[in-house]
Amino acid sequence: MTNKDIMRWLERTADVLRENRTFLTDLDAAIGDADHGINMDRGFSAVRDKFPAMATMDMAAQLRTVGSTLVSTVGGAGGPLYGTAYLRAAGAIAGKEELDSADIVAMIEAFLGGVVARGKAQPGEKTMVDALTPALNAARQAQGEGATLAQVTNRAAEAAEEGAKATIPMLATKGRASYLGERSIGHQDPGATSSWLILRCLAESSQST
Ligand code: ADP
Ligand code: MG
Repeated sequence: MTNKDIMRWLERTADVLRENRTFLTDLDAAIGDADHGINMDRGFSAVRDKFPAMATMDMAAQLRTVGSTLVSTVGGAGGPLYGTAYLRAAGAIAGKEELDSADIVAMIEAFLGGVVARGKAQPGEKTMVDALTPALNAARQAQGEGATLAQVTNRAAEAAEEGAKATIPMLATKGRASYLGERSIGHQDPGATSSWLILRCLAESSQST
């Protein structure tokens, strides 16, 4: 992957989050305050405004721009959590002009690490971490088995989808959804769902690399 592919990932993410604005907000209406889709679309619309300037940046600078834009434009938990994730991901690929499958695993690891550093959630607490952790594990395993970069990102996206769906029976113990206690059970977590969408966009953008 090169900075052109990272651009395609980010452009696709902005489109997909816009398309899923209502879906994510409806998920958040069930266990939160009905703004996750609005938050993500607002953040990535601000990122979209910077696409022209980002096109010539190196990959780390592109991801750094996403991180700082999300931190400064998205209210609620999602902004700082994803902002930190993209900033850490940028750090993991600093200085690189091309990413191989090991670099992608390191980038996903740093992305998850940013969410955990900021939010202190463990797997099983019904958050983004429940999509990102299985995604990292699947990516790492695929990479260890010699999979191509496209296969690694596909496996990560598939595992993130399963992880997001697996949040349905979970009891939320972090974030706003935890205020609901037992009533958080039976609903898919919005943040885990947006994490899955972000990784699906990564997979789609790396198929031709
Ligand atoms: P808010 O909860 O402030 O309204 P959003 O609706 O944008 O923010 O985001 C909600 C999502 O944030 C949740 O679905 C959950 O996945 C994620 N989240 C909340 N708290 C944490 C945390 N401590 N660690 C990881 N993810 C979290
Ligand atoms: Mg919310």
